[in-house]
Amino acid sequence: MKPSITNTLSRKKEELIPSEAAFKMYCCGPTVYGPAHIGNFRTFLTQDVLRRTLECAGMEVLHVRNITDVDDKTIRESQKLGLSLSKFTRKWEDKFHADCAKLNMLPPSVEPRATEHISEQLSMVEKLVDTGHAYATKDGSVYFKISTFENYGRLANLDREHMATQMTNSAGEANNADEYERESVADFALWKGRKPEDGDNFWKSPWGEGRPGWHIECSAMSRKYLGDTFDLHGGGIDLCFPHHENEIAQSECATGASPYVRYWFHSAHLMVEGEKMSKSLGNLFTLDDLLKKGYTPQQIRYALISGHYRQQLNFTFKSLDDAKSALSKLRKGVSSTLKEAGMSEEEFNKLIKPGAEFAGTIFEGAWNAMCDDLNVPRALGEIFAALGKFGGKTADIKALGSMLYAFGLDIFADNSEKAEEIPAEISDMARRRWEAKQARNFALADELRKSIADAGWTVFDSKDGFDIKKSQ
Ligand code: AMP
Ligand code: ZN
Repeated sequence: MKPSITNTLSRKKEELIPSEAAFKMYCCGPTVYGPAHIGNFRTFLTQDVLRRTLECAGMEVLHVRNITDVDDKTIRESQKLGLSLSKFTRKWEDKFHADCAKLNMLPPSVEPRATEHISEQLSMVEKLVDTGHAYATKDGSVYFKISTFENYGRLANLDREHMATQMTNSAGEANNADEYERESVADFALWKGRKPEDGDNFWKSPWGEGRPGWHIECSAMSRKYLGDTFDLHGGGIDLCFPHHENEIAQSECATGASPYVRYWFHSAHLMVEGEKMSKSLGNLFTLDDLLKKGYTPQQIRYALISGHYRQQLNFTFKSLDDAKSALSKLRKGVSSTLKEAGMSEEEFNKLIKPGAEFAGTIFEGAWNAMCDDLNVPRALGEIFAALGKFGGKTADIKALGSMLYAFGLDIFADNSEKAEEIPAEISDMARRRWEAKQARNFALADELRKSIADAGWTVFDSKDGFDIKKSQ
């Protein structure tokens, strides 16, 4: 079978077929103003599992996930601490990356930052103004005129009859906020004129100083890295409206290409003990909160991927305990088969990769479940059912290796190296060293390398980035 998902736009289950050689997917990334919570990770892990499944189906995946490093929240929080926006957001970006590595998430192919793509955003806004889809206001802001886009509201299924296709919302105001409810639908901000509370965070534009609205960053960056039309766009269900609805409007009007996105992929929210997660209820958990309680990253990953992505996931501590016993049952079952087959755990670890044939193996049912609207819970059930028939056949062992790759469960791997946290000051020095090297300031780059080494860490360079490891 071939992978399929339910496309939010068509509301139908559709097979995922790349339109070009690689499958191009864009996922809205984190807003970096604090640690991501397990709800955010539910969504990012679902996208990670989808990507791994596509790879197991033989596709090459071009995965772009942005970093939102300028918006109302990042500006407000950086100012509270008296830090520059970039210093503040880089700290939380590093923390996000460390958490992703612990959870065994594949790094995206490209991870663009909003603040590094201001010119791309501006040129899109200019195009929208030039073509009559957007207009400037007296305060130097620019708004998208939703009445100029006939399909506005299709993704979120808005009722056009009752939709205020006008410049102001039902309260008679223009929508300056990035996030708002369906009842407040109105023209939305593409560019926000500079306000005193923005502090130093502004850029020059044809309409005066200001900063981008939130929605335009994803339209501009997905276009740059994936083109005017690409295959799949993902996010949590809360992003469907207004964020993704607005992205479609901006992109299709600016590029003239339609559709902007072929498959829309939204995951339902994570709830905690049946309630919405929120700081005020005291039920908001970060990865560190759960690690401190003694759970491993693999158990947490298992618990967060084990529900169907279109259904709310009710996170409970019991679900973590269940994940713990499921993983140990899986390890036991696989270990005994490996013994029968005379294969070591290290050898099996090397088989956790895409490429196996599932047809005709005892894991065909599990694979078919993954292909059927990414049904992870059914696939996990099929895995456990098949373990009873596991007789050490090579084709079955290879198929299980690829299935575990799709789930991202390296069941015998020691996560301790991945779990090692790189201190913020080390990653900060490493980034400054990389920037110095790009600017051919080799003296500074060498000096920074030495300071990093003195602190017990080593930087490794590759063609387009760097990696940091604890010195041996
Ligand atoms: P943010 O950092 O707020 O921009 O959110 C990052 C991602 O997490 C987005 O795709 C959101 O839709 C998603 N998200 C936020 N809250 C939850 C939740 N409780 N459950 C699942 N996904 C969520
Ligand atoms: Zn986005």
